[in-house]
Amino acid sequence: MTAAYLRAAFGDRLDVTLVESTTVGSIGVGEATFSTIRHYFDYLGLDEAEWLPNCDGSYKLGIRFENWSTPGEYFYHPFERLRDADGFSLAEWWLKLGDHRRPFDRECFITSALCEARRSPRFLDGSLFAGDLDGSSGRSTLAEQRAQFPYAYHFDADKVARFLAGYSVDRGVRHVVDDVVHTAQDQRGWITHVVTRDHGDLAADLFVDCTGSRAELIGKVLGEPFISFQDVLPNNRAVAIRVPHECPGRMNPYTTATAMEAGWLWTIPLLHRDGNGYVYSDEFCTPEQAERTLRRYVAPRGDDLEVNHIAMRVGRSRESWVKNCVAIGLSSAFVEPLESTGIFFIQHGIEQLVKHFPDRQWDRALAQSYNTRIARAVDGVKDFLILHYRAAGRDDNQYWKAAKTRKATDTAEECMEGARVHLWDQETIYPHYHGFESYSWNTIWLGMGNRPERFRPALAHMDPAPASAEFAKLRAQARRMVKELPSCHEYLSQPGS
Ligand SMILES: Cc1cc2nc3c(=O)[nH]c(=O)nc-3n(C[C@H](O)[C@H](O)[C@H](O)COP(=O)(O)OP(=O)(O)OC[C@H]3O[C@@H](n4cnc5c(N)ncnc54)[C@H](O)[C@@H]3O)c2cc1C
Repeated sequence: MTAAYLRAAFGDRLDVTLVESTTVGSIGVGEATFSTIRHYFDYLGLDEAEWLPNCDGSYKLGIRFENWSTPGEYFYHPFERLRDADGFSLAEWWLKLGDHRRPFDRECFITSALCEARRSPRFLDGSLFAGDLDGSSGRSTLAEQRAQFPYAYHFDADKVARFLAGYSVDRGVRHVVDDVVHTAQDQRGWITHVVTRDHGDLAADLFVDCTGSRAELIGKVLGEPFISFQDVLPNNRAVAIRVPHECPGRMNPYTTATAMEAGWLWTIPLLHRDGNGYVYSDEFCTPEQAERTLRRYVAPRGDDLEVNHIAMRVGRSRESWVKNCVAIGLSSAFVEPLESTGIFFIQHGIEQLVKHFPDRQWDRALAQSYNTRIARAVDGVKDFLILHYRAAGRDDNQYWKAAKTRKATDTAEECMEGARVHLWDQETIYPHYHGFESYSWNTIWLGMGNRPERFRPALAHMDPAPASAEFAKLRAQARRMVKELPSCHEYLSQPGS
């Protein structure tokens, strides 16, 4: 992703070399994305028809959270902003006017209805259901996002990496398939070159460490400390498996996150298979128990298939840019994959690198500004994830009891205190850019069954008619879209889609 983007940004005014090992594997997971990923592909000038079918890709309209409040209950966290009526979000109006026997998300979003009916976000002619959001955003970046694009992707991450390596090489990136076995530094500690097994020394001005949680350069060579988040986010292991679809022809256009005894389990439907994994805390579950739980969940599909046990390094590098090395990906930061943020962090890191790209003066202020933005984005997601565990309605075993009482960061505590009185807005969630908007915070909070003490007092003095009309319009639009849109499977299995 980084090599391709640097090439797209700087063309041949910058020489880029991509070094990849065939002996050190990649992590082999990371298949669900954010809807902001469209800016990445648009920036590269890639239409989804060019890459999606090559990468086993499918659509993701949001995340379905199952069993987080009580067994059998679920809600969707969609890529859809809440609408407003008379200056207040529909969620605020729902607290006052809504039928509280109906789940909040089904009343306030169109996307929930599309997920329930397994609809594609595109009509068979390729047009988007929310036509005003269609069209390439050109070379836009995260900073220019004005609207919430209604879908993201599920894909085979290894295939995407291969596709992007090919894209990069076609545009002049040098691709070296080899192992880095040694790193040389000058007397200041700056990296002068890396030594590969078969291709000799590779010198450069700037080194981007994309070596995953090994953090070969930023951690091992430069010694930058890693700040663990385990005190507030205790899940530290995962076990993953790739299985055939349960019911070919019935593709869910969403990721499912199902709460389990000691964590939660993901289901990511790709075009030709599902990715499943159990994220858990080893304080409450052994790897063998986790594997049994996962196998039971997907049975009989995974019975003869191998699983991938993964130790998760949850936290962030104190600084992601040190001397002439910038860490991007798992080498920089990772929080558990509950909101699919790993690839978003990569995209954000790359964009910030382009914005802060140095010249030979190496102005320290550029690196400092970069580090601040990366740290804030990661810390904001950390707070948002803490909210998930605090908001969860479950307290049926030690794992979930501990999740509700575990200490949180001061910033998360402050945000959560705010929701006691009224729902969040952009002023009251974590204050720096972290990819999530207030509607996401509110969706998780309300979706898991929480409510402020009462609805906004101001609404008692206002005419509810505009809000009622907006709810009625939303319901009518949802009914029409469900009727007119093809199923996700039908759309993606069309020849040439
Ligand atoms: C359990 C789990 C689930 C996840 N799910 C999601 C998800 O749904 N959505 C999401 O956005 N993110 C997810 N992530 C995060 C996501 O997997 C990563 O952000 C993403 O895969 C990027 O990884 P990476 O490139 O940093 O590291 P890796 O995939 O580990 O790649 C490291 C690369 O460095 C190379 N390398 C290492 N050492 C050397 C060396 N000495 N010489 C040469 N090359 C070397 C390797 O060959 C490899 O290509 C998940 C992570 C985990 C742990």
